Amino acid sequence: MTRIDRGILVLGAGPAGAAVALGLRRLGHAVTVVGVPRAFDAIEGVSDRVVAGLRGVGIEAALAAIAEPSPRRATWAGATTALNSERLVDRAAFDRLLWQELQDHGVECIAARVMRWTPGEHDKHGESGHTLQIQRPDETQPTTLRARFVVEARGRLAPHPPQGVGRGPETVALLWRGQGAAGGEAGSAVESLPGGWAWCARLPGGAVALQLTVDPSAIALPPRAQLGAFVREQLAAVDAALPFLDTAATEVHALARTSGAVLAPEVCGATWLRVGDAAMAADPLSGNGIFQSLSSALQAPMVVHTLLNHPADAPHARRFHTERVHGLFQRFARIGRDFYAQEARWADEPFWAARRAWPDALPTHGAEGDAPPHIEQRPVVDRDRIRLAEVLVTAGQPLGIWHVDGVAIAPLWRAAQAAPGREVEALVPLLGGDTGRAQAALRWLRAQGWR
Ligand code: FAD
Repeated sequence: MTRIDRGILVLGAGPAGAAVALGLRRLGHAVTVVGVPRAFDAIEGVSDRVVAGLRGVGIEAALAAIAEPSPRRATWAGATTALNSERLVDRAAFDRLLWQELQDHGVECIAARVMRWTPGEHDKHGESGHTLQIQRPDETQPTTLRARFVVEARGRLAPHPPQGVGRGPETVALLWRGQGAAGGEAGSAVESLPGGWAWCARLPGGAVALQLTVDPSAIALPPRAQLGAFVREQLAAVDAALPFLDTAATEVHALARTSGAVLAPEVCGATWLRVGDAAMAADPLSGNGIFQSLSSALQAPMVVHTLLNHPADAPHARRFHTERVHGLFQRFARIGRDFYAQEARWADEPFWAARRAWPDALPTHGAEGDAPPHIEQRPVVDRDRIRLAEVLVTAGQPLGIWHVDGVAIAPLWRAAQAAPGREVEALVPLLGGDTGRAQAALRWLRAQGWR
């Protein structure tokens, strides 16, 4: 029989891997994370919503690497706005703090590169064990680990099977990272260009990032040693980039990074799960990558818990995770499409024509059609597990609404349907439970126009 020496193994310690590991610890599982630091330092921009999302999954100490909001200038579709702000993140510092935070929460962390993952098979004892070869930096030979369950969270570096991967238009981000003097004004700027778009940022500590996003088939990339000069040269004529080029920053590195949208063909098996960018990665235009990776990781601990402890509900747990990941991917792909479509000045340029037509022509909201609201049995998160329950399915909420403020919506909707003319007050006693909350939920239901 396969000897399984680890319960749950999480591969990769970015925001998604960390969120799942912390969630599984809270559910009482022993978790081991295997990770190496990112290969390069990146500066990324996030919103307050991301900070709230990180807090929501139990990440606190790493928030120290997220700067206070700084001005964000956007030049898009011929208009320049400087009305909003974003929080800049030094990802190397953030990921280092995250690694420490995991250990502070009792997660075993192994600093090693995953070289090979051989998925488990059910042996005659019904046991499923995965075999992983990992390479620690200070050892010459790889180590073998065996685990009962694997969470794949290696981001865009997670290997994909040869077939079935969903992909958006091919995209590459050319990145230049420099270090200037501390004390300059922090901020960021984005600008659309005929062949793509540029994003630039400066952190309070003087780190500068230049990012040029293009279609790789439309540009002749120079050798790596000249990439930094190439990016700076391309941005020299871009207004938004000028304040970021005008520094004495010295180059830290320059590299090209694939950044198109990617959806894994399968995101959940009986004893494994993909989360974050390893499950679906979005076009970074939305600036929502970390948010999306958290969204797919948020309920993953309950999915894993169900797969391990409630086998009768395993098919519902797999369906739940798969539907959520696919729904997120489609939603963010359509939001990106609509944003690209706003830029009409170069609509026929290949970069813009491809992106305004992908993934489809369906509306971002209500893409599921206009079927009237109805009740279905669908998987829901019930405390620490996934199970089937009656939910109200609407065009805007195709995965269904189970509860609003603790009140089950399906029976409420059914009662309201059966007695359309009755006052809220008259209906609520029929439902039992907390009268005030039920009244509020019924008012909310009616405000949506769903009865
Ligand atoms: P990651 O953060 O990529 O974490 C994966 C972890 O796995 C890393 O620590 C990695 O080192 C580790 N790993 C990889 N391979 C191995 C291995 N073999 N063994 C062990 N460990 C391994 N998002 C935003 O919110 N705002 C932005 O401004 C933004 N800008 C972006 C710009 C570009 C060019 C790109 C490509 C992405 C950008 N993103 C941005 C997206 C964001 O970086 C990701 O969505 C987010 O980091 C995904 O989190 P994750 O945990 O899934 O993966």
